[in-house]
Amino acid sequence: MYFKTVDFSKFSSIKVGVPIEVLMLERGDDIPTDRVIIGHANNLLVSSSPSPLMMLSKDFSFIELDEDILTVGCATPTGRVLSFAKKNNLSGFEFISKLPGSMGGMVAMNAGVKNYEIFNILDAVKIDGQWKRKDDIRYDYRFANLNGVATELRFKVKRGFSQILLDELILLRSNQPKTPSAGSAFKNPEGDYAGRLIEAVGLKGFSKGGMQWSEVHANFLVNNGKGTFEEAKYLIELAKDKIFKEFTILLEEEIEIL
Ligand SMILES: Cc1cc2nc3c(=O)[nH]c(=O)nc-3n(C[C@H](O)[C@H](O)[C@H](O)COP(=O)(O)OP(=O)(O)OC[C@H]3O[C@@H](n4cnc5c(N)ncnc54)[C@H](O)[C@@H]3O)c2cc1C
Repeated sequence: MYFKTVDFSKFSSIKVGVPIEVLMLERGDDIPTDRVIIGHANNLLVSSSPSPLMMLSKDFSFIELDEDILTVGCATPTGRVLSFAKKNNLSGFEFISKLPGSMGGMVAMNAGVKNYEIFNILDAVKIDGQWKRKDDIRYDYRFANLNGVATELRFKVKRGFSQILLDELILLRSNQPKTPSAGSAFKNPEGDYAGRLIEAVGLKGFSKGGMQWSEVHANFLVNNGKGTFEEAKYLIELAKDKIFKEFTILLEEEIEIL
Protein backbone atom coordinates (compact mmCIF):
# COMPACT_ATOMS: atom_id res chain seq x y z
CA MET A 1 0.00 0.00 0.00
CA TYR A 2 1.06 3.56 -0.54
CA PHE A 3 -0.32 7.08 -0.15
CA LYS A 4 -1.45 9.29 -3.00
CA THR A 5 -2.59 12.92 -2.86
CA VAL A 6 -6.01 13.14 -4.48
CA ASP A 7 -7.32 16.61 -5.29
CA PHE A 8 -11.08 16.21 -4.94
CA SER A 9 -11.73 19.52 -6.72
CA LYS A 10 -10.44 17.72 -9.83
CA PHE A 11 -11.02 14.02 -9.12
CA SER A 12 -14.63 14.09 -7.90
CA SER A 13 -17.34 14.37 -10.54
CA ILE A 14 -18.87 17.33 -8.68
CA LYS A 15 -15.45 19.07 -8.58
CA VAL A 16 -15.72 19.98 -4.91
CA GLY A 17 -13.01 19.42 -2.31
CA VAL A 18 -9.34 19.84 -1.50
CA PRO A 19 -6.18 17.70 -1.88
CA ILE A 20 -6.26 14.79 0.59
CA GLU A 21 -3.87 11.90 1.26
CA VAL A 22 -5.59 8.65 0.29
CA LEU A 23 -4.23 5.18 1.11
CA MET A 24 -3.97 3.10 -2.08
CA LEU A 25 -4.56 -0.64 -1.59
CA GLU A 26 -2.55 -3.13 -3.62
CA ARG A 27 -3.20 -6.83 -4.20
CA GLY A 28 -2.26 -8.87 -1.10
CA ASP A 29 -2.53 -5.95 1.35
CA ASP A 30 -4.41 -6.41 4.61
CA ILE A 31 -7.46 -4.17 4.34
CA PRO A 32 -7.52 -1.56 7.11
CA THR A 33 -10.75 -1.33 9.11
CA ASP A 34 -10.32 2.28 10.21
CA ARG A 35 -10.62 3.92 6.76
CA VAL A 36 -13.52 4.66 4.42
CA ILE A 37 -13.22 3.03 1.00
CA ILE A 38 -13.97 5.25 -1.97
CA GLY A 39 -14.27 4.47 -5.67
CA HIS A 40 -14.02 7.07 -8.41
CA ALA A 41 -15.94 9.78 -6.46
CA ASN A 42 -18.95 10.09 -8.78
CA ASN A 43 -21.36 9.88 -5.88
CA LEU A 44 -19.38 11.73 -3.23
CA LEU A 45 -19.32 15.13 -1.61
CA VAL A 46 -16.00 15.29 0.25
CA SER A 47 -15.35 17.89 2.95
CA SER A 48 -11.90 19.28 3.74
CA SER A 49 -11.60 16.94 6.76
CA PRO A 50 -13.23 13.60 5.93
CA SER A 51 -12.54 10.36 7.82
CA PRO A 52 -9.30 8.73 6.61
CA LEU A 53 -9.84 7.43 3.07
CA MET A 54 -8.59 4.46 1.04
CA MET A 55 -8.96 3.46 -2.59
CA LEU A 56 -8.22 0.39 -4.71
CA SER A 57 -5.10 0.70 -6.89
CA LYS A 58 -4.88 -0.40 -10.54
CA ASP A 59 -4.16 -3.95 -9.29
CA PHE A 60 -7.95 -4.24 -8.99
CA SER A 61 -8.72 -3.00 -12.50
CA PHE A 62 -9.19 -6.09 -14.69
CA ILE A 63 -11.79 -8.08 -16.61
CA GLU A 64 -11.59 -11.85 -17.11
CA LEU A 65 -14.03 -13.98 -19.08
CA ASP A 66 -13.89 -17.76 -18.65
CA GLU A 67 -16.72 -19.50 -20.53
CA ASP A 68 -19.84 -17.97 -18.93
CA ILE A 69 -18.13 -16.58 -15.82
CA LEU A 70 -17.09 -12.93 -15.91
CA THR A 71 -14.84 -11.68 -13.11
CA VAL A 72 -14.27 -7.95 -12.80
CA GLY A 73 -11.94 -6.09 -10.43
CA CYS A 74 -13.66 -3.37 -8.41
CA ALA A 75 -11.33 -0.56 -9.58
CA THR A 76 -12.40 -1.20 -13.19
CA PRO A 77 -14.20 1.83 -14.68
CA THR A 78 -17.81 1.06 -15.64
CA GLY A 79 -17.14 2.27 -19.20
CA ARG A 80 -14.51 -0.45 -19.69
CA VAL A 81 -16.98 -3.14 -18.65
CA LEU A 82 -19.57 -1.78 -21.06
CA SER A 83 -17.06 -1.82 -23.95
CA PHE A 84 -16.02 -5.35 -23.03
CA ALA A 85 -19.66 -6.53 -22.95
CA LYS A 86 -20.28 -4.98 -26.33
CA LYS A 87 -17.15 -6.45 -27.87
CA ASN A 88 -17.84 -9.93 -26.46
CA ASN A 89 -21.60 -9.82 -27.11
CA LEU A 90 -22.64 -10.14 -23.44
CA SER A 91 -26.14 -9.20 -22.35
CA GLY A 92 -27.24 -7.37 -19.20
CA PHE A 93 -24.56 -4.69 -18.98
CA GLU A 94 -26.15 -2.12 -21.33
CA PHE A 95 -27.55 -0.05 -18.41
CA ILE A 96 -24.12 0.80 -17.00
CA SER A 97 -23.52 3.17 -19.87
CA LYS A 98 -23.78 6.71 -18.45
CA LEU A 99 -23.29 5.46 -14.89
CA PRO A 100 -19.83 6.88 -14.26
CA GLY A 101 -17.63 5.29 -11.61
CA SER A 102 -15.86 2.11 -10.62
CA MET A 103 -17.46 -1.33 -10.38
CA GLY A 104 -16.86 -1.21 -6.60
CA GLY A 105 -18.86 2.01 -6.31
CA MET A 106 -21.56 0.50 -8.49
CA VAL A 107 -22.05 -2.54 -6.31
CA ALA A 108 -21.86 -0.57 -3.05
CA MET A 109 -24.58 1.81 -4.31
CA ASN A 110 -26.55 -0.90 -6.14
CA ALA A 111 -26.41 1.68 -8.93
CA GLY A 112 -28.89 1.51 -11.75
CA VAL A 113 -31.37 3.06 -14.11
CA LYS A 114 -35.11 2.37 -14.08
CA ASN A 115 -35.53 -1.33 -13.30
CA TYR A 116 -31.96 -2.19 -14.21
CA GLU A 117 -29.67 -2.49 -11.19
CA ILE A 118 -26.27 -4.09 -10.77
CA PHE A 119 -27.62 -6.61 -8.22
CA ASN A 120 -30.01 -7.99 -10.89
CA ILE A 121 -27.09 -9.40 -12.84
CA LEU A 122 -24.58 -10.00 -10.04
CA ASP A 123 -23.66 -13.49 -8.86
CA ALA A 124 -21.12 -12.86 -6.08
CA VAL A 125 -18.84 -10.22 -4.55
CA LYS A 126 -15.44 -10.68 -2.94
CA ILE A 127 -15.59 -8.66 0.29
CA ASP A 128 -12.51 -8.35 2.51
CA GLY A 129 -11.06 -11.38 0.72
CA GLN A 130 -14.13 -13.67 1.03
CA TRP A 131 -16.56 -14.45 -1.80
CA LYS A 132 -20.15 -13.73 -0.78
CA ARG A 133 -23.16 -14.81 -2.83
CA LYS A 134 -25.65 -12.14 -3.81
CA ASP A 135 -28.39 -13.82 -1.74
CA ASP A 136 -26.29 -13.47 1.40
CA ILE A 137 -26.09 -9.67 1.03
CA ARG A 138 -28.87 -7.28 2.04
CA TYR A 139 -29.58 -4.87 -0.80
CA ASP A 140 -32.30 -2.51 -1.94
CA TYR A 141 -32.84 0.61 -4.07
CA ARG A 142 -29.43 2.38 -4.17
CA PHE A 143 -28.27 0.40 -1.16
CA ALA A 144 -26.14 -2.64 -0.45
CA ASN A 145 -24.91 -3.75 2.94
CA LEU A 146 -21.43 -4.88 1.91
CA ASN A 147 -19.89 -4.31 5.32
CA GLY A 148 -16.35 -4.24 3.95
CA VAL A 149 -14.25 -3.57 0.87
CA ALA A 150 -15.40 -5.16 -2.40
CA THR A 151 -12.42 -6.13 -4.56
CA GLU A 152 -13.94 -8.42 -7.24
CA LEU A 153 -17.37 -9.09 -8.74
CA ARG A 154 -18.54 -12.26 -10.43
CA PHE A 155 -21.30 -12.54 -13.03
CA LYS A 156 -22.79 -15.52 -14.88
CA VAL A 157 -23.16 -14.12 -18.36
CA LYS A 158 -25.38 -14.79 -21.34
CA ARG A 159 -24.68 -13.79 -24.92
CA GLY A 160 -26.62 -11.07 -26.72
CA PHE A 161 -25.59 -7.43 -26.22
CA SER A 162 -28.55 -5.20 -27.13
CA GLN A 163 -27.61 -2.08 -29.08
CA ILE A 164 -31.31 -1.15 -29.10
CA LEU A 165 -31.49 -1.15 -25.30
CA LEU A 166 -28.22 0.79 -25.13
CA ASP A 167 -29.58 3.47 -27.47
CA GLU A 168 -32.81 3.69 -25.44
CA LEU A 169 -30.88 4.16 -22.22
CA ILE A 170 -28.60 6.79 -23.74
CA LEU A 171 -31.69 8.70 -24.90
CA LEU A 172 -33.16 8.48 -21.41
CA ARG A 173 -30.09 10.24 -20.02
CA SER A 174 -30.25 13.09 -22.47
CA ASN A 175 -32.18 15.24 -19.95
CA GLN A 176 -29.30 15.23 -17.49
CA PRO A 177 -27.22 18.33 -16.87
CA LYS A 178 -23.74 18.40 -18.41
CA THR A 179 -22.45 20.62 -15.58
CA PRO A 180 -20.35 18.80 -12.92
CA SER A 181 -22.53 16.93 -10.41
CA ALA A 182 -22.59 13.72 -8.41
CA GLY A 183 -25.72 12.41 -10.09
CA SER A 184 -28.97 12.48 -8.13
CA ALA A 185 -28.53 14.23 -4.79
CA PHE A 186 -31.47 12.47 -3.09
CA LYS A 187 -33.04 9.02 -3.40
CA ASN A 188 -36.58 9.11 -4.73
CA PRO A 189 -39.00 8.64 -1.83
CA GLU A 190 -41.56 5.83 -2.14
CA GLY A 191 -44.11 6.76 -4.81
CA ASP A 192 -42.64 10.19 -5.60
CA TYR A 193 -39.64 11.89 -7.18
CA ALA A 194 -37.07 13.97 -5.31
CA GLY A 195 -36.76 16.24 -8.38
CA ARG A 196 -40.50 16.95 -8.33
CA LEU A 197 -40.39 17.83 -4.62
CA ILE A 198 -37.37 20.15 -5.03
CA GLU A 199 -39.19 21.91 -7.84
CA ALA A 200 -42.44 22.08 -5.80
CA VAL A 201 -40.71 23.99 -2.97
CA GLY A 202 -39.31 26.46 -5.49
CA LEU A 203 -35.68 25.39 -5.40
CA LYS A 204 -35.19 24.33 -9.03
CA GLY A 205 -32.43 26.65 -10.31
CA PHE A 206 -31.76 28.06 -6.82
CA SER A 207 -28.07 28.68 -6.14
CA LYS A 208 -25.68 29.41 -3.31
CA GLY A 209 -22.24 30.61 -4.42
CA GLY A 210 -21.01 28.23 -7.11
CA MET A 211 -23.49 25.44 -6.29
CA GLN A 212 -26.99 25.20 -7.71
CA TRP A 213 -30.07 22.97 -7.87
CA SER A 214 -29.91 22.36 -11.61
CA GLU A 215 -32.35 24.10 -13.91
CA VAL A 216 -32.17 21.04 -16.18
CA HIS A 217 -32.99 18.36 -13.59
CA ALA A 218 -33.91 19.63 -10.10
CA ASN A 219 -32.44 16.62 -8.22
CA PHE A 220 -28.96 17.31 -9.59
CA LEU A 221 -26.79 19.53 -7.42
CA VAL A 222 -24.42 21.13 -9.92
CA ASN A 223 -21.18 23.04 -9.57
CA ASN A 224 -21.05 26.05 -11.83
CA GLY A 225 -17.39 26.57 -10.93
CA LYS A 226 -15.61 27.09 -7.61
CA GLY A 227 -18.56 25.67 -5.65
CA THR A 228 -17.62 24.64 -2.10
CA PHE A 229 -18.54 21.82 0.25
CA GLU A 230 -20.27 24.31 2.59
CA GLU A 231 -22.42 25.70 -0.25
CA ALA A 232 -23.40 22.20 -1.36
CA LYS A 233 -24.25 21.18 2.21
CA TYR A 234 -26.30 24.35 2.65
CA LEU A 235 -28.41 23.58 -0.43
CA ILE A 236 -28.93 19.96 0.62
CA GLU A 237 -30.10 20.97 4.12
CA LEU A 238 -32.30 23.74 2.70
CA ALA A 239 -34.07 21.31 0.36
CA LYS A 240 -34.56 18.71 3.09
CA ASP A 241 -35.91 21.33 5.45
CA LYS A 242 -38.34 22.93 3.00
CA ILE A 243 -39.62 19.58 1.71
CA PHE A 244 -40.14 18.27 5.23
CA LYS A 245 -42.03 21.40 6.26
CA GLU A 246 -44.24 21.36 3.18
CA PHE A 247 -44.80 17.64 2.58
CA THR A 248 -43.61 15.91 5.82
CA ILE A 249 -41.32 13.82 3.63
CA LEU A 250 -37.78 13.42 4.89
CA LEU A 251 -35.54 12.97 1.86
CA GLU A 252 -32.54 10.71 2.17
CA GLU A 253 -29.31 11.70 0.46
CA GLU A 254 -28.16 9.45 -2.39
CA ILE A 255 -24.93 11.44 -2.58
CA GLU A 256 -22.47 10.26 0.10
CA ILE A 257 -21.21 13.08 2.33
CA LEU A 258 -17.75 12.43 3.75
C1 LIG B 1 -23.65 12.59 -14.19
C2 LIG B 1 -23.92 11.44 -13.25
C3 LIG B 1 -25.02 10.62 -13.46
C4 LIG B 1 -25.30 9.58 -12.60
N1 LIG B 1 -26.41 8.80 -12.81
C5 LIG B 1 -26.67 7.76 -12.00
C6 LIG B 1 -27.80 6.92 -12.22
O1 LIG B 1 -28.58 7.11 -13.13
N2 LIG B 1 -28.01 5.87 -11.38
C7 LIG B 1 -27.18 5.61 -10.33
O2 LIG B 1 -27.39 4.63 -9.62
N3 LIG B 1 -26.09 6.39 -10.10
C8 LIG B 1 -25.82 7.45 -10.89
N4 LIG B 1 -24.74 8.26 -10.64
C9 LIG B 1 -23.91 7.99 -9.46
C10 LIG B 1 -22.68 7.13 -9.73
O3 LIG B 1 -22.50 6.91 -11.10
C11 LIG B 1 -22.80 5.77 -9.04
O4 LIG B 1 -23.17 5.88 -7.67
C12 LIG B 1 -21.47 5.02 -9.13
O5 LIG B 1 -21.74 3.69 -8.88
C13 LIG B 1 -20.43 5.55 -8.17
O6 LIG B 1 -19.22 4.86 -8.37
P1 LIG B 1 -17.84 5.43 -7.82
O7 LIG B 1 -16.77 4.47 -8.11
O8 LIG B 1 -17.63 6.80 -8.31
O9 LIG B 1 -18.13 5.41 -6.24
P2 LIG B 1 -17.85 6.55 -5.16
O10 LIG B 1 -18.69 7.73 -5.47
O11 LIG B 1 -16.41 6.79 -4.99
O12 LIG B 1 -18.42 5.83 -3.85
C14 LIG B 1 -19.79 5.57 -3.71
C15 LIG B 1 -20.02 4.66 -2.52
O13 LIG B 1 -19.49 3.38 -2.79
C16 LIG B 1 -18.62 2.96 -1.75
N5 LIG B 1 -17.56 2.17 -2.40
C17 LIG B 1 -16.81 2.54 -3.48
N6 LIG B 1 -15.96 1.56 -3.82
C18 LIG B 1 -16.17 0.55 -2.94
C19 LIG B 1 -15.59 -0.75 -2.77
N7 LIG B 1 -14.61 -1.20 -3.57
N8 LIG B 1 -16.04 -1.54 -1.75
C20 LIG B 1 -17.04 -1.09 -0.93
N9 LIG B 1 -17.62 0.12 -1.03
C21 LIG B 1 -17.19 0.93 -2.04
C22 LIG B 1 -18.13 4.24 -1.10
O14 LIG B 1 -17.78 4.03 0.26
C23 LIG B 1 -19.36 5.12 -1.22
O15 LIG B 1 -20.23 4.82 -0.16
C24 LIG B 1 -24.44 9.33 -11.50
C25 LIG B 1 -23.30 10.14 -11.30
C26 LIG B 1 -23.04 11.19 -12.16
C27 LIG B 1 -21.83 12.03 -11.92
